[in-house]
Amino acid sequence: MDQDFAATVGAVSKLIQEFNKLPGIGPKSAQRLVYHLLRASEEQTRLLAEALLSLKQETRLCSICFNVTDSDSCRICSNEQRDRNKICIVEQPQDILALEHTGIYSGLYHVLHGAISPIEGVGADDVRIRELLDRLEDGSVDEVILATNPNLEGEQTAMYLNRLITPLGIKVTRLARGLPFGTELEYADDVTLTRAIEGRQEF
Ligand SMILES: [Zn+2]
Repeated sequence: MDQDFAATVGAVSKLIQEFNKLPGIGPKSAQRLVYHLLRASEEQTRLLAEALLSLKQETRLCSICFNVTDSDSCRICSNEQRDRNKICIVEQPQDILALEHTGIYSGLYHVLHGAISPIEGVGADDVRIRELLDRLEDGSVDEVILATNPNLEGEQTAMYLNRLITPLGIKVTRLARGLPFGTELEYADDVTLTRAIEGRQEF
């Protein structure tokens, strides 16, 4: 009996710990989620577990733009309707979701998977900059839009990329300043993002 009780408590606290590691979920929220799941049906928890497993098993990164995809290349890179002369540089895959939601941009993307941050020891080689430069080599791109976050790391990354790309004879633009400094792209609303893309300025 005691052993059963210990095992149950162990499973509960283990899941609380795991939820607690997720962004935006503190110990209280983690606890609430776990006790909610304890009351949920076996079916519901099984669906959640399966969804978690297939998240990793059924997704990969596009070998061209490094967006999350279930097919390689991704739906954007393989879409012939997209404007192949423009590449929009973002820090994270979810930034593409935010920009696509505005419906205003029809070019391609490149996901850096991070931003340069000397304080946190993230250098140019730790994000997908080399792969970006490879994509620019064939001369088919005439505009690179820097859509890194309007915060310190994002600005540093944008300046670094501008120094690398401008000498290649490619126009480099940066999203307009309508985005409040210190925020992240994925949280910007559609109207602000649309204005930022439309008002993008040459670096
Ligand atoms: Zn792609």
